[in-house]
Amino acid sequence: MSTSPPTKWCLITGSSRGIGAAIARKLAGDGYSIVLHARHNRQSCEELAAKLTAQGTSCRVLMFDISNRAAAREALEKDIAEHGPYYGIVCNAGITRDTPFPAMEGEQWDAVLRTDLDSFYNVLSPCIMPMLQARKGGRIITISSVSGVAGNRGQVNYSAAKAGIIGATKALALELAKRKITVNCIAPGIIETDMIETLPIEEIKKMVPLRRLGTPDDIAATASFLMSDGASYITRQVINVNGGLV
Ligand code: NDP
Repeated sequence: MSTSPPTKWCLITGSSRGIGAAIARKLAGDGYSIVLHARHNRQSCEELAAKLTAQGTSCRVLMFDISNRAAAREALEKDIAEHGPYYGIVCNAGITRDTPFPAMEGEQWDAVLRTDLDSFYNVLSPCIMPMLQARKGGRIITISSVSGVAGNRGQVNYSAAKAGIIGATKALALELAKRKITVNCIAPGIIETDMIETLPIEEIKKMVPLRRLGTPDDIAATASFLMSDGASYITRQVINVNGGLV
């Protein structure tokens, strides 16, 4: 008699739309159970949850602000207490507040650092100990950016936060390696989502060697691989998915 493999739950932050939603769809197709998450956009999460559930995926929705340490801890501890630890976590949610540095307001700096960098601690800290105690290994995937790898004008705040994510990812990978939890980072180039709707798309395409923008599915394909058993010997890495931009 064959027994089905144990359910592996994956939390994808910021999965109401864009890259996070594509990762959720892909991981659901790969057979994982999915925890969707957003800050405000519960309706989009619920709609995606309904679609995935109809396709046979176990799914639930969590709402909290990743820049709010106490709120994140409360929501995550409650979810883990009720449903058990996650096998995989994709730290995807993020924002931009672009402006040239001389004109950058303190609020723009703070909002991006609190959301894009502090969330590494706010989301992962409540999740790690239960993951370790489960003794089943695991996968952590963070989302940086070409802006964090190379720096980008008008994005000093965002480049700082996304470079910080790379350092934090590499350090955490060292701490968790002996427990068979891999920690890797994806650094996307310019990807077609709401986040880039104000950018000069045609100009950007000319700068990309592959001459197109990336799609959320391009990032989801890499996340799918990093989450898989086939990636069990990959940790502490930054995978650039950027059409050859840098
Ligand atoms: P979108 O703007 O399309 O979606 C952002 C997602 O993050 C939404 O689900 C949003 O929730 C959620 N979110 C934003 N702020 C918070 C918060 N404070 N608390 C909880 N959830 C929040 O972004 P993308 O899909 O384009 O980007 C996803 C990730 O990829 C980000 O980290 C981004 O920096 C990175 N990236 C994107 C690139 C691009 O070109 N698009 C390039 C390189 C990196 P809600 O719907 O409720 O607002």
